[in-house]
Amino acid sequence: MQKGKIGVSTDNIFPIIKKYLYSDHEIFLRELVSNAVDATQKLNTLARLGDFKGELGDTTIRIAVDEKKKTITISDRGVGMTAEEIDKYINQVAFSGANDFLEKYKKDANAIIGHFGLGFYSAFMVSKKVEIHTLSYKEGAQAVKWECDGSPEYSIEEIDKKERGTDIVLFIDDENKQFADKNEIERLLKKYCRFLPIPIAIGKKTKWEDGKEVETDEDNIVNETKPLWTQTPSGLKEDDYKKFYHSLYPMAEDPLFNIHLNVDYPFNLTGILYFPKIRNNIEIQKNKIQLYCNQVYVTDSVEGIVPEFLTLLHGVIDSPDIPLNVSRSYLQSDSNVKKISSHITKKVADRLDEIFRNERKSFEEKWDDLKIFIEYGMLTDEKFYERAQKFALLKNTEGKYFTFEEYKNIIKDLQTDKDKQLVYLYATNKEDQYSFIEAAKNKGYDVLLMDGQLDTHFINHLEQKFDKARFVRVDSDVPEKLIPKEEKNELKLTEAEKDNLTQLFKSQTPNINNANFIVAFEALDENDKPVMITQQEFMRRMKDMSQTGGG
Ligand code: ADP
Ligand code: MG
Repeated sequence: MQKGKIGVSTDNIFPIIKKYLYSDHEIFLRELVSNAVDATQKLNTLARLGDFKGELGDTTIRIAVDEKKKTITISDRGVGMTAEEIDKYINQVAFSGANDFLEKYKKDANAIIGHFGLGFYSAFMVSKKVEIHTLSYKEGAQAVKWECDGSPEYSIEEIDKKERGTDIVLFIDDENKQFADKNEIERLLKKYCRFLPIPIAIGKKTKWEDGKEVETDEDNIVNETKPLWTQTPSGLKEDDYKKFYHSLYPMAEDPLFNIHLNVDYPFNLTGILYFPKIRNNIEIQKNKIQLYCNQVYVTDSVEGIVPEFLTLLHGVIDSPDIPLNVSRSYLQSDSNVKKISSHITKKVADRLDEIFRNERKSFEEKWDDLKIFIEYGMLTDEKFYERAQKFALLKNTEGKYFTFEEYKNIIKDLQTDKDKQLVYLYATNKEDQYSFIEAAKNKGYDVLLMDGQLDTHFINHLEQKFDKARFVRVDSDVPEKLIPKEEKNELKLTEAEKDNLTQLFKSQTPNINNANFIVAFEALDENDKPVMITQQEFMRRMKDMSQTGGG
């Protein structure tokens, strides 16, 4: 047996690991299982290249929990390690400048793990002792066992192991007993390892027999090795996307549609984004997108990684270029991540544009559900606005949909004010404003329906974007003043008569704040009411803004 000291410049790395990595202990499992996956994939590659000529055999990665002994064993049939490789990859932990770094990042455990390739050492977050039993795939290799009890001393000895590959045995310490539990480990595997590319089994499947649960001889596989996003889009059907969606979000309604991302230049990015159907009055849940790095689960908190408005979407994003074990602030400032983010925006816009052009009818059918995402995107992301103005729709009170351009052409001849500005008339509630809508329509005007959650903000935004245009509520005083005047039936009232009538109305309607309403006398047409009590447009606007939170 040989003994040695793990090569780190700090005297003892283990107290550091335990202390700073406190918050996220459970990721040890992700690290060890992904090492097992790496080792298996390396062997697969060697076999493909003809550098490994033996039998691959069953390469399922097996996780075993001994609840009595409080051990967890992770076994793979990958490349294994020779004693020299253990020395190189496990003992010589590159730890230059560790103290400085720790000082800087001590609040962020994940940053430390990733930065130093402490993947394997994360085992010590939960273990009082770790053993590696391993046999390299190389011909004539000698199996070895490495053992370390959490001090920087380790020992290594030859053992008798027949099967190629590595078993990592963790002796769980008392503070982390909760992990010496098969159900807990199965739960963690399903969280972090659900889509890893090599089969992972924990125990055997069980069945019920004579009122008892008994083990079958079928492996209890926890993962899907070829998740949908890794498959070629052309081979997939609508139904496949829906099924995958429901496997991710079992409680959700069918999504509106999906976007399959598949980019390999200038960076690698795959994934599927879904536009969820949001039920009325249910608050939108943010951060439902799951982020993966080569099929390893990283996080479901994607704020700062994807553009703000896409945090409303569902689905998965997978990129080896998104650094795995780094902090949120690091991710947000990473230039790769920024590129990825703007690329996702572009892809989403392109796909929406494509659906709009190819399947306009179904796009229109989905618009009412879709519009909150698109308006939010257009409000918060200038680039997205530029792209979306081609397919964003306006809906009128008759339920017809128009692009911005189409709508402008419809109203441009009739709906202008004295300053030659285009006037977009809109209603916020079809029932309440029924008589105003009808009156405007009778004059030949078109009235938009702007009853969405973001519409007040969106209208303000459009007013800034559109050339010479203003948006006016149909029940304000403005529709009265629109050109053309020719067909208007002026009521033959003198100013004094009008004044008297105004006083009369005001005195008879004490509940209305006098300052806020006006009485209009121009008849809308010969069938209509000769007098209208209405509110000034800017007062309306102020009220709407305050109701939706302003700003
Ligand atoms: P990383 O995975 O980023 O290289 P780790 O600390 O997780 O860092 O692992 C260090 C190295 O130890 C790996 O690169 C690999 O060479 C070796 N190793 C770890 N686990 C295994 C395993 N199960 N089989 C073979 N080699 C392994
Ligand atoms: Mg690793």
